[in-house]
Amino acid sequence: MTQPTENETVLDLFKQSDALLQGHFKLTSGKHSEWYFEKIRLIEKPASLEKIVDLLAAKIRREVPDFDYVVSPAYGAIAIGFLVALKLGKRFAFTQRADEKMTVRSGFSGLGGSRAVVVEDILTTGGSIQEVLACLKERQVSVAGIYVLVDRSAGAVAVEGRPVASLLALKVEAFEPEACPFCAKGIPLTKPGASDKKA
Ligand SMILES: [Zn+2]
Repeated sequence: MTQPTENETVLDLFKQSDALLQGHFKLTSGKHSEWYFEKIRLIEKPASLEKIVDLLAAKIRREVPDFDYVVSPAYGAIAIGFLVALKLGKRFAFTQRADEKMTVRSGFSGLGGSRAVVVEDILTTGGSIQEVLACLKERQVSVAGIYVLVDRSAGAVAVEGRPVASLLALKVEAFEPEACPFCAKGIPLTKPGASDKKA
């Protein structure tokens, strides 16, 4: 009996959530790709998200024995981090941009000096995770681990020298239109709806 690898299971769960689309897409960079993440769809179907989060929570439980908080950046990752915290019996807090600067949302009471695991939805360049680490450092929060659902760099990006653990590592190949194998096959090109994050 062949068990699916964890990567295949996770890939299937992402496809079921409609967050990971397979086809022929024009990216904001102008390049073409077989894959497109519509990451906001991760939170559109909570029951699908819960199955994905169960795998992430199990991984964190195995790898990080002791911490107090799950911290996620606003907005999309809030639902994900919150669910992870719920599954693991931890506290939850989130960061948000105020006047361009990433900051811990005011009002959370016990975060200062605690141990936290950072949970983000998708790792591309690591920019927002880096900002989260900076504002946690200001509050003397020690970071016990950094976890993302999808690592689009396939392990190439570390944040401040720290590894980022992921459920799904997927290097998405992007082609110049002239060199695109899907254009060559005459597959219709889709321009996905504008994402909230500018490329
Ligand atoms: Zn193409």
